[in-house]
Amino acid sequence: MIRTKIIVTYGPSMASDSTLKQMLQYADIVRINFSHAKKEEQTALPHKIRAMSEKMHKYVALLADLPGAKVRVGPLSEPISVKKGDTVIFSSKASKGAVEVMQYPSFNKDAKVGAYIDIGDGIARFRITRIDGNRIISKAVENGQIASRKGLNLIGAEMHIKALTDKDKKFARIAKKNGFDLIGMSFVSSASDILELRKSCRGMPIIAKIEREVAVHNIESIVQEADGIMVARGDLAMSVGLEHIPENQRLLVDVSRRAGKPVIVATQMLASMAHSISATRAEVNDIANAVSQGADVLMLSDETSVGEYPIEAVKFLQKAAGVAESFATSRCYECADAACTDNVLLSAASMSRARNADCIFVPAQTGAAAKAISWLRPSAAILALATSEKVMGDLSMYYGVQPVHVERYGTAERMLRIVRKVAKGMGVKRYLVVTCTSEEPGSAFTLKYVEA
Ligand code: PEP
Repeated sequence: MIRTKIIVTYGPSMASDSTLKQMLQYADIVRINFSHAKKEEQTALPHKIRAMSEKMHKYVALLADLPGAKVRVGPLSEPISVKKGDTVIFSSKASKGAVEVMQYPSFNKDAKVGAYIDIGDGIARFRITRIDGNRIISKAVENGQIASRKGLNLIGAEMHIKALTDKDKKFARIAKKNGFDLIGMSFVSSASDILELRKSCRGMPIIAKIEREVAVHNIESIVQEADGIMVARGDLAMSVGLEHIPENQRLLVDVSRRAGKPVIVATQMLASMAHSISATRAEVNDIANAVSQGADVLMLSDETSVGEYPIEAVKFLQKAAGVAESFATSRCYECADAACTDNVLLSAASMSRARNADCIFVPAQTGAAAKAISWLRPSAAILALATSEKVMGDLSMYYGVQPVHVERYGTAERMLRIVRKVAKGMGVKRYLVVTCTSEEPGSAFTLKYVEA
């Protein structure tokens, strides 16, 4: 069984009950993208997925990915085709003869002559030649197309955009009410954005999506405030330049791990599989690189939401990540220390290797013990016995940790009885059990090896 966690993005390609059910066998987290989700997908779907996964005796967490203030071209009845050298006018106010730009009131203040306007991740690019009040006059750099509601980025000029919109706050409340486990915050620029979002979804772990250069600059303080980060390579490439994605990914993964926070690598992991039954050599290398750098989670987007081969894509991701784990896992003692400094926990990982144990059972009232062991990347599964769904959702982002729901376990003896029952049900033969001397926070841990 693989230890790297997998997020699948929900969409029409996996909407049928049979595909959804199959998908839940492979996914650890289902992402519902609130930029596109219909009302029932924000409200009824999470309950349906929860019920389906409960029947499968598996905890599949739900991630509500908020749209943030994504700058987009306004609605167009038809795409506009442009030829190299054509003049195109953009404006943040609907006006005759101009392409409307949504959610960007400071467009004309940020725009600079000589900077570029990029549409739809490179489908069309324009060089700004003049700024006339609200009208930004530009020339097409290449032949291209402006399609309805495509994302728009300024290249070579800083974009000043508020990360959190009123719509995001409303969506965060809907997500909390409907049992989502995790919130994804788009276009974060600083730690204070996360603090502001927390007011609308108190108690829910927040994943900061790093997709702007300014967020890379502020990453040290962002990881302190966030519960995890996502290297959102789609928009990030537009902000930092595609050729700078590898160095930025490496930096973001490193900073997040040093802070003891989980990290998701997202976007185009298997882009070719949206339309092809097999992946490319480059994609399989990308997956192995992410695993060896220490990513906890890998994410599929179009591959599972609108792709032609959603199940094949998730199965291949699982296969490729599993192989990568066998030769490229990256332990992080610093990260384990950041999560916890208890020697018993730190030795659980090495003892599981020495005894060739199948799994390590860990009490998870807060989840800190399971997180600390996760950073040491044991090959044994970490079965975290959690008493609350909140902790189960949080742990779903951590490499190798499988949350298992239990009622209150009380004394060490009682916990051992519960573990024996769970282990028997799972057919586990050799395992380690971390127990607490009492239920009080801060109580000492002990470690026991069991051979059934
Ligand atoms: C990304 O930009 O890589 C990303 C994951 O964000 P979204 O899919 O919400 O645009």
